[in-house]
Amino acid sequence: MGAPNIEQLRDRVAGVVITPDDEGYDDARAVYNAMIDKRPAAVVRPTSVADVAVAVDHAREAGIDLAIRGGGHGVPGFGTCDGGVVIDLSTMRTVAVDPSARTARANGGATWGDFNDATAAHGLATTGGIISTTGVAGLTLGGGIGYLARGHGLSIDNLESAEVVTADGRTATASAREHEDLFWALRGGGGNFGVVTSLEFRLQPVQEIYGGPMFFELEDARAVLEWYRSFIADAPEEFGGFPAYQIAPPLPFIPEERHGDTFIAFVACWSGPIEQGESMLKPIHDVAPVVAEHVGAMPYAALNAAFDGLVPPGLQHYWKANFVTELTDDIIDAHLRHGPDVPVVNSTVHIYPINGAVHRVGATETAFAHRQANFATVVAGMWPDPAQNEANIKWVRDYSEATAPLSEEAGYINFMAGDDQSRIRANYGPNYDRLVEVKRTYDPDNLFHLNQNIAP
Ligand SMILES: Cc1cc2nc3c(=O)[nH]c(=O)nc-3n(C[C@H](O)[C@H](O)[C@H](O)COP(=O)(O)OP(=O)(O)OC[C@H]3O[C@@H](n4cnc5c(N)ncnc54)[C@H](O)[C@@H]3O)c2cc1C
Repeated sequence: MGAPNIEQLRDRVAGVVITPDDEGYDDARAVYNAMIDKRPAAVVRPTSVADVAVAVDHAREAGIDLAIRGGGHGVPGFGTCDGGVVIDLSTMRTVAVDPSARTARANGGATWGDFNDATAAHGLATTGGIISTTGVAGLTLGGGIGYLARGHGLSIDNLESAEVVTADGRTATASAREHEDLFWALRGGGGNFGVVTSLEFRLQPVQEIYGGPMFFELEDARAVLEWYRSFIADAPEEFGGFPAYQIAPPLPFIPEERHGDTFIAFVACWSGPIEQGESMLKPIHDVAPVVAEHVGAMPYAALNAAFDGLVPPGLQHYWKANFVTELTDDIIDAHLRHGPDVPVVNSTVHIYPINGAVHRVGATETAFAHRQANFATVVAGMWPDPAQNEANIKWVRDYSEATAPLSEEAGYINFMAGDDQSRIRANYGPNYDRLVEVKRTYDPDNLFHLNQNIAP
């Protein structure tokens, strides 16, 4: 591998170029997952699409690795690299809303917090993640699962167009009318096809929601999971939410003597008429006594930021994920065995529903293939102390080994760990071969290979 010509890069880029000799280098090279310890030769913080193109050209011409960073949340740490160039889009975060057209254009480094704050000002939203610090681009390019998915589809199902700097340094607009093959591939194919400098979304009228977290005793976990399985199958599509194994954090709504205890939680989000919220959440309240809850009417953007404190930057991350078509008794048994062992307050297991509107898009209409799955499960190991790596990774692996054989072979690309590259074909299923074709068109030399890679 060559080396970047830093002087030339600095000359040509209007934004900042940070190298190992510069103050702030350690911050600039870090990603969210503190287990990743890589040392790029240069971190470029662009201020424009032209800067991005310069960095892409530079990496290609020098024959060096190129990493793309949006929100930096990717668990495998593909947003940094050793010896190459990182394009850190955190300097390009503007979100422009057109309330009359009900669309929003987010720059490639915007987070869901940036996005939700901008759209909430107009009573609008689209499907995004459940944590506000996650990047809009990285989350969307993998699919985009969140509270609004049952009603409005995945984030990609609301994507109207994207502006992309491709491997040749040119800018392309991908939409249903231009570069249709690229637009298809971007909707699930991750960062394989170029640097996405902006994404345009359709918005829906969503302002206040009714919901929040509820904590139930572990002995009621079977009842909660069985209720979830049957209720969510045909619940009104405005009902989003998911069960989770969760250690109680020290929050005021949880009795102090229960802080640190493990619960089965349910996080609900009713985005229909607010006055129906209480009755919509009655069935879950009837399942078992609620030990603690923080449920009520709140802005959608507030629910999206409610759990940020549990996942600060700098934790160690190791995750495993599978799609699930039927939440069988056997899978529920596996959850009942492993969920209660959740080791630390930051770690969790989420079983997201991906039915409803997600199923109204065909398996081959976008690169995200698993439209028949009803759930996306993630065992998300997140812990502060590297000395606990072995114990935490073991919990994630044991849990996953118990549930994976009962699930689909594939998992959601955005919940994959760094050691999941061998699952790439299964993760794209019937769409894999077409993705390879698009990759050959837009990135034949695999410049964008730091991702769950679709090799040309
Ligand atoms: C705490 C936490 C909560 C999460 N919650 C959810 C959730 O609710 N729903 C959900 O669907 N997923 C969720 N995820 C998973 C998330 O979708 C992925 O980690 C995603 O990759 C994060 O995107 P990012 O931009 O923040 O990360 P980054 O690490 O910056 O990017 C990850 C990869 O995405 C690609 N990428 C990012 N930006 C661009 C760009 N502008 N152009 C081209 N490629 C790009 C690159 O390949 C990059 O390596 C969560 C992850 C974490 C850590």
